[in-house]
Amino acid sequence: MSPHAELVSRLRAAWLSGKTRPTEYRLAQLEALGRFLDEKKQDILEATAADMRKPPFEVEVSELSICRSELNHTLNNLGAWMKDKHVEKNWATQLDSAFIRKDPYGVVLIIGPWNYPINLLLVPLIGAIAAGNCVVMKPSEITRNVERLVAETLPRYLDEDCFAVVTAGVEETTRLLENKFDYIFFTGSSSVGRIVMTAAAKHLTPVTLELGGKNPCYVSDSCDVQNVARRVAWGRFFNAGQTCVAPDYVLCSAEMQEKLLPALREVITEFYGPNPRESPDFGRIVGDRQFQRVQALLHSGHTAIGGQTDAEERYIAPTVLVEVQQDDPVMQEEIFGPILPILTVASVDDAIAFINARERPLVLYVFSSRKEVVKRVLERTSSGGFCANDTIMHMTIPSLPFGGIGQSGLGRYHGRSSFETFSHQRSALLRGAGRESLNTPRYPPYAPHRLPLLRAATETKRRATCLLL
Ligand code: NAD
Repeated sequence: MSPHAELVSRLRAAWLSGKTRPTEYRLAQLEALGRFLDEKKQDILEATAADMRKPPFEVEVSELSICRSELNHTLNNLGAWMKDKHVEKNWATQLDSAFIRKDPYGVVLIIGPWNYPINLLLVPLIGAIAAGNCVVMKPSEITRNVERLVAETLPRYLDEDCFAVVTAGVEETTRLLENKFDYIFFTGSSSVGRIVMTAAAKHLTPVTLELGGKNPCYVSDSCDVQNVARRVAWGRFFNAGQTCVAPDYVLCSAEMQEKLLPALREVITEFYGPNPRESPDFGRIVGDRQFQRVQALLHSGHTAIGGQTDAEERYIAPTVLVEVQQDDPVMQEEIFGPILPILTVASVDDAIAFINARERPLVLYVFSSRKEVVKRVLERTSSGGFCANDTIMHMTIPSLPFGGIGQSGLGRYHGRSSFETFSHQRSALLRGAGRESLNTPRYPPYAPHRLPLLRAATETKRRATCLLL
């Protein structure tokens, strides 16, 4: 028996009691989560600094503000989202009520990664609470200080009958996954995503997998090079490159590379000073294992900017690599560190072919002042999300669904999409108990002459269409 079986069955009993269903209950839990964010802000800043020297400004923007925005968006809209959706009916059910009820799944498991340990645990949690579920949260064990903070303090704000935090490493998470959950929401690497989906399959539990991958960034010849350099460098070096939606590599012409390199050099100095190691605004790699992995990727191509490392501090300078080949190690895996390789392509069509020859990314970035270039890339490629002329900013809009496709993930969340992800769309038909004579045509003994009437009552007709419209 899994060590967490008792916890899961306790939460399931609470869910079955109907406690989490009323709107007022959900709103109260969400408001309590807001209080956690306000009252524990300083502890969150300290824990993220201790774990990976995350600059406080970056924590404010990417952890606290995103959670607050998601929370407010949900509190503002929950009433409307929860409403039953009445649907079109056929003739046979005209006098009845047919609707879709957004039903909670039950007991949900949320597994978070370490790179944005508050955001990527709490934003899914907001959706799960809004949809009326009970939740087991499993934060990453890699960011130890945040894990401890969340485990010790978050349960004090929420209803402990319905919400629990489990601290677990790989072995214990494997055991936790043996339990039957009603939904699993996982954020992390594609390889662990596969493990989670396999465990979920044993119970036929539906999953959302928010995974990673290599996000291409195509820079066309027609753009403002200074602006591109600032926006790409910000997206790549934020959180020391440990961001799932960071631009992973740049594709551009050889001429653009000539212009982009000095602009990147200038902007890196502008952002982090002559020695980024001394900048309070540049983070560190989360752990020694991750440091060794990212450091090994520095040997691809030629280092045009940066390249300095310090294992003691787990520091890797903001780095730009050129003359990178497609089969270099840096192009074989998600970088997840402050390294930006530039690969040259001859044209936008070459960039499209390059992108389409690889796994579908979580997000695709395009920089161009020509609308037709942006449109061409948008129409000819496939990715979880798409953002033109900036990086990461698409994530700041809660009404844009966020998620991957193919190897970069399965499912979507944020805002209404979170609420829908954690809700089962339960179809309901409420018929009257009388008027039995109207049902007679469908019962045996079958009378073929009644078939046209039955078909007229139940079959959907093709609407008349005008080809010119
Ligand atoms: P990870 O897959 O190593 O770990 C994620 C979670 O899974 C952690 O809580 C960990 O304890 C757990 N875990 C690890 N091994 C496990 C196993 N064998 N069985 C069960 N659970 C296991 O990912 P990470 O290193 O924490 O995060 C980095 C990855 O996450 C990157 O690939 C990144 O792109 C991806 N990511 C994706 C998103 C997104 O929204 N799509 C966001 C952030 C990070």
